[in-house]
Amino acid sequence: MLQLRPNCECCDRDLAPDSTEARICSFECTFCEACAGAVLGGRCPNCGGELVPRPRRPAAKLARFPASTERVLKPSGCGR
Ligand SMILES: [Zn+2]
Ligand SMILES: [Zn+2]
Repeated sequence: MLQLRPNCECCDRDLAPDSTEARICSFECTFCEACAGAVLGGRCPNCGGELVPRPRRPAAKLARFPASTERVLKPSGCGR
């Protein structure tokens, strides 16, 4: 099951479980649309894998299968 992490690893902006702006790699490194595109060029900086839109979990399922609340952030950021 996807963790649905709550924030972008680069800029720490909030990414709600129903956000259309969340991007993830196969390890679920999580980024916002802006960072994944302009800053990272569609590649995960941690594993080199592709970043794809994160599927949204239907609201009715979130009560039983809640999203992660553990924030993951790259201490050095992703800036160029
Ligand atoms: Zn970001
Ligand atoms: Zn990754």
